[in-house]
Amino acid sequence: MTGERLADLAVVGAGFAGMSAAIFAGARGLSTIQVGNAGALLFSSGPLDLMGVHPVEEGRVWTDPFAAAAAVARDIPGHPYSRVDAAAIRAAFAEIVAALGEAGLDYGPLGDTNRELVTGAGTIKTTYCVPRSMLAGVAALADRVPCLLVGFQGLREYSAAGIAEALRERWPGLRAIQVDFRAGVAAGEAHAAHLARALELAENRAALCERIRPQLADAQAVGLPAVLGLRRSDAIAGDLSNQLGVPVFEIPTIPTSVPGLRLKDAFERAAARRGVRRIVQRRVLAIVPEADAFALYLEDAPPGTAPLRARAVVIATGRFMGRGLVADRRRIREALLDLPVVQPSSRSRWHEADFFDPRGHEANRAGVTVDETFRPCDEAGQRVHPRLFAIGTLLAHHDWARTKCGAGVAIVSARAAVLAALHELGGGAR
Ligand SMILES: Cc1cc2nc3c(=O)[nH]c(=O)nc-3n(C[C@H](O)[C@H](O)[C@H](O)COP(=O)(O)OP(=O)(O)OC[C@H]3O[C@@H](n4cnc5c(N)ncnc54)[C@H](O)[C@@H]3O)c2cc1C
Repeated sequence: MTGERLADLAVVGAGFAGMSAAIFAGARGLSTIQVGNAGALLFSSGPLDLMGVHPVEEGRVWTDPFAAAAAVARDIPGHPYSRVDAAAIRAAFAEIVAALGEAGLDYGPLGDTNRELVTGAGTIKTTYCVPRSMLAGVAALADRVPCLLVGFQGLREYSAAGIAEALRERWPGLRAIQVDFRAGVAAGEAHAAHLARALELAENRAALCERIRPQLADAQAVGLPAVLGLRRSDAIAGDLSNQLGVPVFEIPTIPTSVPGLRLKDAFERAAARRGVRRIVQRRVLAIVPEADAFALYLEDAPPGTAPLRARAVVIATGRFMGRGLVADRRRIREALLDLPVVQPSSRSRWHEADFFDPRGHEANRAGVTVDETFRPCDEAGQRVHPRLFAIGTLLAHHDWARTKCGAGVAIVSARAAVLAALHELGGGAR
């Protein structure tokens, strides 16, 4: 728990960006220490967005995410994608998807195009990389095949009938049923995590199929909420497909969801396999640059505890939700080092009058600005420190929620920062 060893790299934050950085660093032999908890990972519905919408005010949806990233890089100076090329994006996704796969969370093949899938809110989401357990839903939606959506009595966050109703015009072949499947729980509310654990057992899957089979009729695919196991959901979907004789797929549910738990679990196992030392449920209170290292002071450290020390630091602390950025009445600040934050000139410009303004809100593009190597810069454009890096949603010039680039910016910036740190520390590109 204390800073007895000098690590090569400290990663602050354990969301998409921090976990990715830890995995990239550990895989390249950097002794890596990570501090923080899971962040918005737990809120994720599973799919990994790369770049979906640009320009945001036009709401233009792109089929080719690489062309979209290139357009953004051209149109928005300082956007994180203006610091990388398509090869770097592909390499970053390939490595993280492989790491998650090894850790038990399989994604579909990475291609050149975005995909569309149905969400538990009854919307259609454009994304890049889809968990394998959701893949058959992409094909079913694309072909608009007759499809049976199955809901569970008592599972309050998911309504199969609601989804079918919301999509009635766009996908007329959708039909919804509700099954009474308690898997050992007497009555009342059903919980997604409980159902997921129950469906890891073959006898429960057989019992579920018995309830669905008589209602299949002409269905050529079956959609279930994302409760097909806490791990190996693609294998469970495959088993249900075999039993029902049609492809079975998961539909992402609202947060916090089972896919979020799976992502957290897979990221943590992938980091552990790569030798990353993790300090969870603690926050870094301060980072102090020293001659050849940084000292990181943790909250709740017993008096006299030495700080953690690392030769380089990656800050992946997120925006307002993660508390990487904090706002007072006058300005938005970066919480750890008071790094310069790109932000609207006055508080009155943080948000537009209309919450649903198609342009989004300037405050949602606030953040730390970085150079080509993801080192934070001051107002004059000079890097703040050669061994300090910033990644993920903490970065300025992007509105990940509206433009659908959340996981992509996190993963891609993490790889670029780790390669630059490796170079700086004398490791060359590995
Ligand atoms: C509801 C919801 C659904 C989403 N769904 C998707 C999706 O389907 N696909 C997709 O691509 N993206 C999705 N996203 C976006 C995606 O989650 C974000 O883009 C991503 O989480 C950004 O990761 P991050 O690591 O930069 O920040 P965060 O996830 O915010 O993580 C920052 C972490 O840093 C920690 N931290 C902050 N300060 C400190 C400190 N001082 N010491 C230690 N730790 C600290 C925080 O506790 C937090 O854990 C979703 C986001 C939300 C909120």
